[in-house]
Amino acid sequence: MGGKISVASSKSENDYLNRVKKYPNQVITAHKDSIQEGFEYFESEEFTKKHLKGRSPIRNKLLSVGIKNLPKMIKIFAKYMSPMFSGKNKCFTDLNEYLNELDTEGNLLNRKHTLLDTYPNKKLWTELQNYAWDKWQVNIGFTELPSELIFKGKAVLFKYTIVCIQEMHKDKIDLAPDFTAGEEVQRVYSSLGIAANDIADWLRQNFNIRCQSNHPLGGLVNTTPLAAKAGMGWQGHNGLLITQQYGPRHRITPIFIEDKVFEFTDNKDHIWIEDFCRNCRRCEKSCPTQAIYSEKQSTIQDIPGINQTRTCIDRLKCYEYFSKTLGCSICLRVCPFSKGEEAYQKLKNGLENRLSKSM
Ligand code: SF4
Ligand code: SF4
Repeated sequence: MGGKISVASSKSENDYLNRVKKYPNQVITAHKDSIQEGFEYFESEEFTKKHLKGRSPIRNKLLSVGIKNLPKMIKIFAKYMSPMFSGKNKCFTDLNEYLNELDTEGNLLNRKHTLLDTYPNKKLWTELQNYAWDKWQVNIGFTELPSELIFKGKAVLFKYTIVCIQEMHKDKIDLAPDFTAGEEVQRVYSSLGIAANDIADWLRQNFNIRCQSNHPLGGLVNTTPLAAKAGMGWQGHNGLLITQQYGPRHRITPIFIEDKVFEFTDNKDHIWIEDFCRNCRRCEKSCPTQAIYSEKQSTIQDIPGINQTRTCIDRLKCYEYFSKTLGCSICLRVCPFSKGEEAYQKLKNGLENRLSKSM
């Protein structure tokens, strides 16, 4: 608690961080070893000066895509940028009531929710799962956020976290690096942002649970290890969360809530994926920019539930190509887990057979 709050990538996020900055001991701040959010560096002045010859990241993106693809890119931007930005803004403007409370009371965590009396609230958890799935095709998990996973300079209001995952469709990702895959990436960034805001509203309105939704693009926390901690998958060699249902074809976003009103879904059932990746490396071999590290760089050690965080991608190498294709996705397309649930089980059985024969 009490870490330095400083960095922001949008006006609404900046306003939020400036407000919570006054209460570093009442909110949850980043750990001293926390890393910077991945996209943020690419919007920084340092990056613009050093790598874009002073051009803005958006102008650079438009220039790098080439004349032929420009109309297509503009069309995709026009379709998804507005809901994306309004979704990002809503995540912060929805917090005004809590921030006002912080300003007047100097404290947020001072009320006992009645749902704690009926913990673990299995019925409500099922209702929430059904709501998230039926309306948004979103899968959810529930865990406690370690401060190590909050990005450097950021802060959140609550530490209990509903982790939301939404699929990117296989037929679209299979066309990567075509714009069709890039459009799918943008579609799900946009749609999951809207879904998280809606699910948070549903919890506030129906159950009086105070929540803070966050957007999958950018964001306040490192969602891959967070979702792994919640037992929803494990980090693959390509740095992405490999899930049972979709492999790496998805986006992730959190909703932070005030109390532990549900049971944690934490488990390490998918940790075997690490062993599988060791002998696969298809993503590394297929990356057009050689951005996927052969040897992962361990960034933070001893995080409860996930052991450590690892940097798997040279973001600078990935960024340019990711940016000009609107989301590349080659390392998702080639991953054998991308085929879905049946493939997950086959790959698991195959690995178990190989291991038992070698013993
Ligand atoms: S998104 Fe594309 S460029 Fe980036 S790591 Fe994956 S394959 Fe490489
Ligand atoms: S392509 Fe292979 S090595 Fe890469 S994440 Fe998927 S399973 Fe792991």
